[in-house]
Amino acid sequence: MKKLLSTFIVLLLLLKMTIAQSVCIIKSPDGNTSIEVILNDGMPRYTIKHSGKVFLKESPLGIKTNIGDFSQSLTLFEVSQQSINKTYVLKNIKQSNVNYIANAAVVTFKKDGQKQLSIEFRVSNSDVAFRYEVLPIKDTKVCVVEQEESGFVFPNGTTTFLCPQAKPMGGFARTSPSYETPYTVDDAMGKNGWGNGYTLPCLFREGNDGWVLISETGTDGSYVGCRLLNDGDENYKIGFPQSQEMNGFSSTSAMVSLPFKTPWRTITIGNTLKEIVETTVPFDLTEQKYKPSQQYTYGKGTWSWIIGMDASCNYDEQKRYIDFAAQMGYQSVLIDAFWDTAIGYDKIAELASYGKSKNVGIFLWYNSNGSWNDAPQTPINKMNNQRIRRQEMKWMRDNGIRGIKVDFFGGDKQPMMQLYEDILADANDFGLLVIFHGCTLPRGWEKMYPNYAASEAVLASENLHFGQGACDNEAFNACLHPFIRNTVGSMDFGGSALNKFYNADNQHGTIRRTSDVFALAVAVLFQSAVQHFALAPNNLTDAPKWAIDFMKNVPTTWDEIKFIDGYPGKYVILARRSGDRWFIAGVNAQKETLKLTLNLPMFAVGNTIKYYSDDNQLNGSVNEIKINKKQQVVITIPCNGGVVIENKN
Ligand code: CA
Repeated sequence: MKKLLSTFIVLLLLLKMTIAQSVCIIKSPDGNTSIEVILNDGMPRYTIKHSGKVFLKESPLGIKTNIGDFSQSLTLFEVSQQSINKTYVLKNIKQSNVNYIANAAVVTFKKDGQKQLSIEFRVSNSDVAFRYEVLPIKDTKVCVVEQEESGFVFPNGTTTFLCPQAKPMGGFARTSPSYETPYTVDDAMGKNGWGNGYTLPCLFREGNDGWVLISETGTDGSYVGCRLLNDGDENYKIGFPQSQEMNGFSSTSAMVSLPFKTPWRTITIGNTLKEIVETTVPFDLTEQKYKPSQQYTYGKGTWSWIIGMDASCNYDEQKRYIDFAAQMGYQSVLIDAFWDTAIGYDKIAELASYGKSKNVGIFLWYNSNGSWNDAPQTPINKMNNQRIRRQEMKWMRDNGIRGIKVDFFGGDKQPMMQLYEDILADANDFGLLVIFHGCTLPRGWEKMYPNYAASEAVLASENLHFGQGACDNEAFNACLHPFIRNTVGSMDFGGSALNKFYNADNQHGTIRRTSDVFALAVAVLFQSAVQHFALAPNNLTDAPKWAIDFMKNVPTTWDEIKFIDGYPGKYVILARRSGDRWFIAGVNAQKETLKLTLNLPMFAVGNTIKYYSDDNQLNGSVNEIKINKKQQVVITIPCNGGVVIENKN
């Protein structure tokens, strides 16, 4: 009986093997990464190998619409393959000149005898991506996409570095989800966050084999923003928005016209974190959607609200910050909520012209509402209506305003994704840069929208003001973002405070635990082409001169990035290049002082570098070091401290 049973199982396995059909294998240009597309009993599947190891086990593909379930009962129609080699220039991301080389395939499936679905694949040396194309069927030219089967099945023992998706209509003034939740690191698989899955991007560690980052790119108003869900197994699958977002209004599905291509699902793979940190996949796969109406000015700025809160939103204080920005050589100030009533439109126009006389532009804060949450801050009911929005933007252009910061969005449903795109497109008509806060993850937007500046979508500097816990964990969080959130898009963190206290008098309030060199280091580690630092006018006299001098000169646009060392939540050391200036920056969250010997071939033998570092009490200093024959520099970083190395000019 036992023998009969095992024969039966073998027969079943054989049957299963004959049903699974290998559709195609697409290899990366260097041959080290490959994806195999499979049709298993009519269901599309894929596996990914890297360096000879399985990085994703057989994982589901497919999409469900109201004109058909294109995740099963499919037959292969055709496979077409091609290679891609293109270059592009983008000044507002981690690397200014990119050469994207990949192999591509389009796999077309039939269902019920008709071509109904294509899946497009891209494989570069360290990034795999795919997207669906739903095809029209006879006279049916529209459909509703209800769900994706797209999943990522990880090998046993994989650990996770994830940020839970907040439940809808929760948190401050019912504004969640707004991508502002704390990460869990090195955790086991099989959980689902706080019950609602995880915010993209999601980082996974496959033991000593390497790392995988899952994200998406190319999302605009034609689709929804997605998250990752887990049902208690090894499959993390793409999830649509939660039904209670936007106060329960509007569907979680996407209404599309056919043929329709979904956003790309991206899988970045590396044996180390280098590939994750250096990936440009969000921009390799997207195209510019409109031409810039003018050449936009990126750069540095200051921001009174982070230290002075709402009370600082008055004419005199904003004028003082404009003077401060001018003294720093900065390009802008950001005037936060309530300026419309606390300062008024006419006085803002005066500030704008005063700023112009000092080469300081003004960014103005706006509420995105609308009708999706209770956030009361004003100006309100301006950005959600095209007629009113464009009037407002015309006033801004006529008065020389540089850009806007729009806050408190309402989740990831299709109408909300359309609002992001509409604000960006209108703002471009009036020459305005756009920063989003209380918002979703940007998904390739630096390339798609030339006036896009940055998004929050992180537990940003405001939390350092709001609670001591965030200050106590600042270094831990700073050791996560360069490996996760900031790898796929500009991150408007608003940090690098040099105040000891998050308060205008610099004597009360939450206490900064991190060092001054730490503040300098995160100005390099956190990437955003527009940065409003949490510096205050008093820092001109109460902060070390070397720190102020550094903050005057640190770039916000970069030509190159190099991962040097680090581990999420423990420490991070990166190198960035702007023109011919290299900056090496590191911070440490571990209790023990970190001591490392860095190979720095970017500095020539005999060159003199500036070395900013901390002693055990987190007292910073700057020293000059001559690069030795080995081009090595020994660094030490105490807990909550930092290190920065730059060329001496
Ligand atoms: Ca926020």
